[in-house]
Amino acid sequence: AGKKVLIVYAHQEPKSFNGSLLKIAVEELTKQGCSVTVSDLYAMQFEPRATRNDIVGHLHNSEAFNYAVETWEAFKRGGLSKDLVEEQKKVQEADLLIFQFPLFWFNMPAILKGWMDRVLVRGFAYDSSKVYDSGLLQNKLSLFSFTTGGSKEKYAIRGDIRYLLWPMQHGIMHFCGVKVLEPHICYAPENVSEDKRKEMLTAWTQRLKTLWKEEPIDCSPEWYFK
Ligand code: FAD
Ligand code: ZN
Repeated sequence: AGKKVLIVYAHQEPKSFNGSLLKIAVEELTKQGCSVTVSDLYAMQFEPRATRNDIVGHLHNSEAFNYAVETWEAFKRGGLSKDLVEEQKKVQEADLLIFQFPLFWFNMPAILKGWMDRVLVRGFAYDSSKVYDSGLLQNKLSLFSFTTGGSKEKYAIRGDIRYLLWPMQHGIMHFCGVKVLEPHICYAPENVSEDKRKEMLTAWTQRLKTLWKEEPIDCSPEWYFK
């Protein structure tokens, strides 16, 4: 109770399986007394491109544009575009970040990747020696909740799904100092029976009930590549 949760959601259709997973999370966490904020990226028409439009006012070096340097400088002088500042505020306040999305090409959809690219600015999320366990977003948890087209069996044959999680969980969240909870994966909602779909939705509700008792994973290479 009293915890703040930010759900960053990337699906176009509220009636989708991802939409149902989102709805469950909002309802269950609200019921627990958490305050829940949703960034519905498609509905917001969130800009995924990292461009100079993200800097308000003068550039640090207008001769040759360097996105990382310019956003870092802009962050320090309070000159980041409004949509970024708003997302950063939500991240800052959150105890838990949930990312809800369908797997696209073994990765997150572009609109969500764009959120990562643009929101997690140097000076805000990390700094020169402030990375991984020293990252700037301390005392926060993250959880990647996603759906796939492929079945669980296919993923077991193709290779452990943990390989896909390395860039997202370790490369982004851990890099910024955010702890990582076990991912939540719903395999092939399009290809299973209605009963199985209901079962997967119930499992998500059940997991959320005891979420705050969970320990973060040991986000080291061994977890991913052992
Ligand atoms: P939906 O189609 O919305 O939902 C599935 C079914 O659940 C629907 O029949 C829906 O009506 C039903 N449903 C919704 N809510 C409920 C409810 N409350 N109760 C019961 N039923 C409900 N897959 C991979 O595995 N690997 C990839 O690399 C990959 N790359 C992709 C790249 C692209 C560009 C695209 C478009 C897809 C890719 N996919 C991939 C497939 C994709 O991951 C799946 O299509 C997606 O995860 C399915 O989730 P959804 O929410 O869109 O499903
Ligand atoms: Zn890690």
